[in-house]
Amino acid sequence: MTRVHNFNPGPSALPLPALERAQREMLDFEGSGMGIMEHSHRGKVYEAVHDEALSLVRSLMGVPDTHDILFLQGGATQQFAQVPMNLRADDQSADYIIGGVWGQKAVKEAKHGGLARVAHSTEDHGKFFRVSRNDELDLDPNAAFLHMTSNNTVMGTQVFDFPEPSSVPLVCDMSSDILSRKFDVSRFGLIYAGAQKNMGPSGVTVVVIEKTLVEKGRRDIPFFFQYRTQAAEKSLANTCPTFSIYMLRNVLSWLAEQGGVDGIAKTNEQKAALLYGILEERSDLFTLPVEKSSRSLMNVVWQLPTPEQDAACVAAATARGLVGLKGHRLAGGLRASLYNAVSLESVAALCEFLRAYRG
Ligand code: PMP
Repeated sequence: MTRVHNFNPGPSALPLPALERAQREMLDFEGSGMGIMEHSHRGKVYEAVHDEALSLVRSLMGVPDTHDILFLQGGATQQFAQVPMNLRADDQSADYIIGGVWGQKAVKEAKHGGLARVAHSTEDHGKFFRVSRNDELDLDPNAAFLHMTSNNTVMGTQVFDFPEPSSVPLVCDMSSDILSRKFDVSRFGLIYAGAQKNMGPSGVTVVVIEKTLVEKGRRDIPFFFQYRTQAAEKSLANTCPTFSIYMLRNVLSWLAEQGGVDGIAKTNEQKAALLYGILEERSDLFTLPVEKSSRSLMNVVWQLPTPEQDAACVAAATARGLVGLKGHRLAGGLRASLYNAVSLESVAALCEFLRAYRG
C-alpha cells in the first residue's frame, strides 16, 4: 500500500490510525458479530459510540453546559438556510461578514425569504485576499445575529480576531478550521461545520448552539428544521448518519491522543510556518496573494507567473505523490490544505519539492 501526501481541500486526509481502527472494526464491532454500520441507531452498541462522539466534541472544543451539540445532515450548506429560518423574526434582518464564496452563499440563502445585509465584505475584483477588521464592520444593533466564516477555504484567509457584537449572537461557519485551534466557545451563539475537513468523512454536520437560542427559535417552521427537535433527542429524532458519526468518534479520539486542540494547534502552526517560509524564500517563482495578517493556517494559496505554470507545478507535484494541490477555480494558482490529519512529514515533503522546483 502506498498512501500519498493528501492536500485535498475537503473531503480531505483522515488520520491513518482512525482509518485503521475502522478497518479492524468493520466486520465485527466489539464482538457484536456485525459492523457498526449494521447496528440500529437506537441500539445500545451504537448509542455508546454516539455518546462518546458527543462527549469528545464537548471536551475537545471546551463546549460549556450553556450550549447543545447537534449532529445534523445536509452539510454546512443546509445551515446557510437553517440558521436564518430558526433565528430570525419576520421583521428582523441579519448581518453577514463576507470574506469569500461561502459567506456569499450564506447571505444569498438568508436573503431568500427574509432580510439580510452585508456588514462588511473584503471582495476586490471578485477576489477576497484579506479578512475584515472589526473596526470596518457596520453592525445593525437589532440584527437577529451576526454571521461570519472563520476560515475561507477557497481564498486561504482566516480570522484571528473574532468580532464581539454586543447584544447580537455571533454565528460562525467553522467548516474548515474547527478543532484546529483554541477559542472561547461561550462567545458564540451558534457554530457549525461540515465534518469532512477536520472531523471525519462527509455526511455529518456539527452544530454547537446556545441553549437559549434553541429555546427562542421559531416555532412556525417545519418541526424537522427546528433546532429544538434534534436538541431534545440527542440528534436521534430520525436515523442519524451512524457511520459518519462513528468515524468522527475515531478521528476525535485520535485528536485527543495528539494532546487535543492545544497539541494539534502547535503542529498546525509549525506546518503553516514551514510552507509559508518556503514560499517566501522562493519569491523568484511563487507569489502569495493573501495579505500576511490574514493568511490561513489551514489553506495555503500561492501562484506561479501564469496559469500554465500553475498547472505544470500541480502535475509535477502529483507525480511525486503530493496530491490535491490544484487551486480553486475562483482563486487560481495552487492550494495546500493543511488540516489536522495532514502530518508534518507531508508538509516537509511538499516543502522539499517546492524548494527544488524550477518551473
Ligand atoms: N463553508 C465552508 C467554509 C466550506 O469550506 C464549505 C465546503 N468546502 C462549505 C461551507 C460547504 O459545506 P458543505 O459541502 O458541507 O455543505
